[in-house]
Amino acid sequence: MTTPEHTLVGIHFALAVSLDRYTGWRIVAMAAVASNVPDWDGLPMLFDMQRFESGHRVWGHSLLSIFLTSLLMGSAQVRWDWIGKVANWSHLKFTKRPLVADDLDPKLSSAWLMVLAYSGVAMVSQILHLICDMVASGGKGLSHWAIEPFWPFSSQAFVYPLIAWGDVGPTVILMSGLIIMAKRRSQVALTSGLTLLGLCAYLMVRSLF
Ligand SMILES: [Zn+2]
Repeated sequence: MTTPEHTLVGIHFALAVSLDRYTGWRIVAMAAVASNVPDWDGLPMLFDMQRFESGHRVWGHSLLSIFLTSLLMGSAQVRWDWIGKVANWSHLKFTKRPLVADDLDPKLSSAWLMVLAYSGVAMVSQILHLICDMVASGGKGLSHWAIEPFWPFSSQAFVYPLIAWGDVGPTVILMSGLIIMAKRRSQVALTSGLTLLGLCAYLMVRSLF
């Protein structure tokens, strides 16, 4: 899957378990961003293709890296509210108005609990990224790109291809869920849950045919 699909999986996960009800929209944004974090190991491609080949789906896709980056993102969010700052900056840039005070208020009851909540969401979102990478792999002349979750302790690689990389089905399902949600403006958790179930069903059916 590519960046938009990973982002949508993160958003639907956070909404399906109603995280936004307890901690506001920031935690949904955290899930959306964290869903893409494992792909930081693709950045060496900009400088050195050989390093990209050896590092992609290894360095950033390891559980150790996921744990550390999740903790970092969660702590930085609680300490500096970077999600609120980015949201306010973009709101100001595109609407020429700052976000209202209510939207900017982090509403934190306990800092440690919030670090735990943000880091936990970031961790689950990144693990969902690994699962998506493992099931959407290969096809159209591409070889399977296994991930190494236990790097640097083990180079055992895993891949369970159910659909080809770039298959348009997940994009259609995930986007449809979002559009339905925007139209109905109610039963958000149910819509996201059904969207994720629909995605799983699609993967199963496509793996059979
Ligand atoms: Zn990836």
